[in-house]
Amino acid sequence: MNEAIEAHLQETRTVPPPEAFVRAARVADRSLHEEAEADFEGFWMRRALTEISWYREPTESLDASNPPFFTWFKDGELNLTYNCLDRHVEAGGGGKTAFTWIGEPGEERVISYAELLAEVERAASALKALGVGKGDRVAIYLGMVPELPVAMLACARIGAIHSVVFGGFSATALADRIQDATCRLVITADGAWRKGAIIPLKDIADEAVAQCPSVEHVLVVRRTEQDVAWHDRDTWWHEAMAEADPRCEPERMNAEDPLFMLYTSGTTAKPKGILHTSGGYLLGAILSHRWVFDIRADDVYWCTADCGWVTGHTYVVYGPLANHATGILYEGTPEYPTWERHWEIVDRHKVTIYYTAPTAIRALIKAGEAAVQMYDTSSLRLLGTVGEPINPEAWIWYHEHVGGGRCPIVDTWWQTETGSVVLSPLPGLSTTKPGSAIGPLPGMKPVIVDERGNPVPIGGGGYLTLQRPWPSMLRTIWGDDQRFVDTYWSRFGPTVYFTGDGARTDDDGDIWLLGRVDDVINVAGHRISTTEIESSLVGHPAVAEAAAIGAHDEIKGEHIAAFVILRDGNEPTDELRGELAQHVAVGIGKFAKPSLLLFAPDLPKTRSGKIMRRLLKDIAEGRELGDATTLRDPAIVEAIKADADRQLGRA
Ligand code: AMP
Repeated sequence: MNEAIEAHLQETRTVPPPEAFVRAARVADRSLHEEAEADFEGFWMRRALTEISWYREPTESLDASNPPFFTWFKDGELNLTYNCLDRHVEAGGGGKTAFTWIGEPGEERVISYAELLAEVERAASALKALGVGKGDRVAIYLGMVPELPVAMLACARIGAIHSVVFGGFSATALADRIQDATCRLVITADGAWRKGAIIPLKDIADEAVAQCPSVEHVLVVRRTEQDVAWHDRDTWWHEAMAEADPRCEPERMNAEDPLFMLYTSGTTAKPKGILHTSGGYLLGAILSHRWVFDIRADDVYWCTADCGWVTGHTYVVYGPLANHATGILYEGTPEYPTWERHWEIVDRHKVTIYYTAPTAIRALIKAGEAAVQMYDTSSLRLLGTVGEPINPEAWIWYHEHVGGGRCPIVDTWWQTETGSVVLSPLPGLSTTKPGSAIGPLPGMKPVIVDERGNPVPIGGGGYLTLQRPWPSMLRTIWGDDQRFVDTYWSRFGPTVYFTGDGARTDDDGDIWLLGRVDDVINVAGHRISTTEIESSLVGHPAVAEAAAIGAHDEIKGEHIAAFVILRDGNEPTDELRGELAQHVAVGIGKFAKPSLLLFAPDLPKTRSGKIMRRLLKDIAEGRELGDATTLRDPAIVEAIKADADRQLGRA
């Protein structure tokens, strides 16, 4: 550990960029920021022309004629997979490792760029043979196996739009997403390994597909090898691959053709299919990946995210591959078979860059530093976090025990909607502070505003907005332009993107994220809407009304607490409590299961009928109750609190 840096950190709570980084960093001064501030359209255009291999070069940068429907590089033509694979192979880089895949049971597979290209071509041919073409939607429901990035890239090669659904979602949630996008094909596996057990993906997908008339075929990867039910619509992936044409020319795509959609939770029960297009998204992925991770030819880069989330799209697949990086692809979770697993992988593969979620870091802290100390992690040179605010204590532990005091930490703030990182320190430039995402990447314009949209002065807090279009921004919500406008572009006008997050600046102007300001909960970095949970609960015959909130959780950031009013004739038993939690797990997914479920005689509401969530949060977190004077019936709160205290053993 670098004691001088640690001492400085303890004293000032700031870490200057390490000398070694400053000397060799990809970004070591503010010239990129300055160039972008002078002319952001030109800034992005110049980079689009040099970073992307186009079939037809674009002649226009941003088209802002119809806000908020912004487009970028709209007369350009390209293919994402040509940029991620073919161009590296053509330049003689086919032998470089694209991914080392590590299975949860421990097997390993090294996949070079040339091999990955060959697999993607075959898979693309297989998709074509099943009748999938440009513009068709393909749902991908897999664990972290090599076939997951291969399937994504195969879609991109032929211009099909992929919709990856995280393998932890339930059949109902999967069916909703398939139906919303009217997918023609589903790619799944017999199962996925999860902490030594099999998640029966095929069974779940079968249950979903039974409700989805648009699905013509299901491609099934063999992974866990248990017997699975078989239908006429099913084809084994390996059989389709064996028969497929080994060559598949990339489709020429317009820069604004859709690349993928990814569903995320909003403030209503219906998830939103966030749509990303090709050219702008790729540019955002390439540049942010290079700037933030300072990526070099010999790095071994490990982003632990699952491809079911946007981080897995941009920073496992598209960004690293377009930058010809070498990545680790790991199937499992950090705690299985033991908490040493990640450090053993870092040691064995000499990982240089490690990018994970604060929830994982907090869980690793709980497991103790002995697990880290058992392995040599001195290969690490840079650490990253994403998905939720990181508390300073976790940051400092990460810095000291994982990074040995020598690795800068990039706390990257961004969203499914932004496509790529928006706020982050740059490792060779920024003085970092534990818990702060510091400031914008070149070209981005975050502005913290008050209720009326006026910028708040330095040192103040408010709503985080982005006030300048950027290439990798979302283009719309699949099938619902109006919802796109209403959700993101109406609160402060059609040119101000509302992130849904609160933020503040400190006296240096550095940005600190304060969490969601809408009814969205962030559990272990996964976004879940309170309305989604509530509507699942009221779908149960015993429930009359429900309110869900996010309460503080030491490890996961937030956990879900639900307050339930039963219909007449139902008894508030522990059995029913379990049944209701399970009902949510089946309706949405296990990760959305309330960890605290309280029966309430009524919900605390204002005189105008609005649920006072703040009070529910106080109750769930065992705090003194805040002001209840505006309530219709103040006695209700006391009754719920008494029940909560009983259940939590606080009575
Ligand atoms: P998702 O679209 O699922 O990646 O979730 C995006 C949301 O996660 C953001 O709106 C934030 O609330 C939260 N988030 C992501 N990264 C960070 C970060 N570095 N710091 C604080 N919150 C974050």
